[in-house]
Amino acid sequence: MTTLPVIGAADLKIRRIYCVGQNYRAHTLEMGGDPDRAPPFFFTKPADAILPSGATMPYPPMTEALEHEVELVVALSAGGRDIPPAQATALIHGYAVGLDMTRRDLQASAKRDGRPWDMAKGFDHSAPCGPLTRIEETGPLTQGAIRLLVDGDLRQHGNIADMIWSVAEVIAELSRYNTLAPGDLIFTGTPAGVGKVHPGNRLDAHIDGLLDLSITIGER
Ligand code: MN
Repeated sequence: MTTLPVIGAADLKIRRIYCVGQNYRAHTLEMGGDPDRAPPFFFTKPADAILPSGATMPYPPMTEALEHEVELVVALSAGGRDIPPAQATALIHGYAVGLDMTRRDLQASAKRDGRPWDMAKGFDHSAPCGPLTRIEETGPLTQGAIRLLVDGDLRQHGNIADMIWSVAEVIAELSRYNTLAPGDLIFTGTPAGVGKVHPGNRLDAHIDGLLDLSITIGER
């Protein structure tokens, strides 16, 4: 059972990892999407893809294009289905900084051929995630800087206020597809500036009000 540390509380057992595609306008445009028409869409990673802060992520096989996507991660303490947006925030246990690591070359070929994204998104160690801070400490997070540095160079920066679909709207929409439950994580999408990483790189991910996530990319 994968767990995540929670500041000042018991570790959270992780049940599922959901991810939102293209939830920031500039990133949607850089990926060739339409930020005005596209409803949120979802994919998943296995729960044991979690990699804790401070760890080394082995450079994965079968790719020449491992890329970073820094994201706000929402952890649920309660669940349900067909949840109205106005009731969604009450399900939130806390927040963390996460990285939706992506084998971009495999994703591109899957898109081109109409095949699943699983091997592009849901591979071993593909979900680095920092410690959770409870919503009691932060309040509902609706704005704040989000950024990623690679070896000290700023690669991604944005504001979580710029999400096309808010956290509450994402929870509500996802609950129309699946019954949500305690221990579910939702990676809520990345701002613009995604790019490749290489063995030896250090990644430092930050969202205002949360603990930073730092990982190192290991050898192939
Ligand atoms: Mn992503």
